[in-house]
Amino acid sequence: MENLLGYTKNMLEDYFVNRGEKKYKATQVFEWLYRHGEYDIAKFSNIKKSIITTLQTDFTTDFIKIEKVLEGKDVKKFLFRLLDNEKIEAVLMEHDYGLSVCVSSQVGCNMGCRFCESGRLKKVRNLEAYEIVEQILLIQKHIGKRISSVVVMGIGEPFDNYDNIIRFIKIINDPKGLAIGSRHITVSTCGLVPKIKEFSNLDLQVNLALSLHGATDEVRNYLMPVNKVYNIDTVITTIKEYITKTNRRVTIEYVMLNMVNDRDSDAYNLARLLKGMNVYVNLIPYNATSIGEFQKSSQERIAEFGKILKQEGINVTVRREFGGNIKAACGQLRSESD
Ligand code: SF4
Repeated sequence: MENLLGYTKNMLEDYFVNRGEKKYKATQVFEWLYRHGEYDIAKFSNIKKSIITTLQTDFTTDFIKIEKVLEGKDVKKFLFRLLDNEKIEAVLMEHDYGLSVCVSSQVGCNMGCRFCESGRLKKVRNLEAYEIVEQILLIQKHIGKRISSVVVMGIGEPFDNYDNIIRFIKIINDPKGLAIGSRHITVSTCGLVPKIKEFSNLDLQVNLALSLHGATDEVRNYLMPVNKVYNIDTVITTIKEYITKTNRRVTIEYVMLNMVNDRDSDAYNLARLLKGMNVYVNLIPYNATSIGEFQKSSQERIAEFGKILKQEGINVTVRREFGGNIKAACGQLRSESD
């Protein structure tokens, strides 16, 4: 049986049409799920009995569970238990412009980034689309407020779970679904080139972020094994093609690691690499984890690094620090609860 919360409206329309029913039934189902928050199929009262029975035979609406919530200033971290008892995390952040959630896309991650707690928990499996949708539904219910933006940047590499991520985006973006505007949805990849190309062919107006974290192959090879498959030149060329094709600005994520990638020379290399591209760089203060190998860059260093980028004509922002005190670095809560 499939979970109804992992079906896009188009998939449901096909489902109904294949059974000789009208397409609009899909919209009715979406309204029950996402407008009324009704997950008991038997209570979809404007849908005829025979269809209810078919839906009940083909679908569940089972939910993952919130196992634990840690609260910090402007941030809440949720640990979820999945139906097979695996665990994942999501983080809720309060910004001036609204509430955003960072969701997980996989149980563990195989990309092995050296600085990342999640990368130490090898991938167990991909998340199903419904498991990603439910992270948001449960958080909304828990806080009693609507989430206005979503980043797919938690545990896992989203493009290593491509089909489910696309389904998820379509569900939350649908005006009859969670109605989260495409400009408010960001998918972050460590640089899986074929999938970036595939993504550029979709007509989704969502934002793309590239986790770069190094401006030379030497630094990036050290930090991110994926660079040995798709090196900097390949990934930057692909991002340039993506920008030309979609006419959309790309975010470059750059985690600031003391004496590893935060020197003046790194800033100049980064500026040279990105010159003339429609990107902006997001400098991320490192959230110290149990991995003793890395330390965060000082605030002064981050400011100086940002200044060099600016002088070189690169748009740059420094990400606000969230939740260092509540183990908000991705993967930290899960790895401690095993
Ligand atoms: S940083 Fe992202 S891609 Fe890299 S290991 Fe961690 S979760 Fe995976």
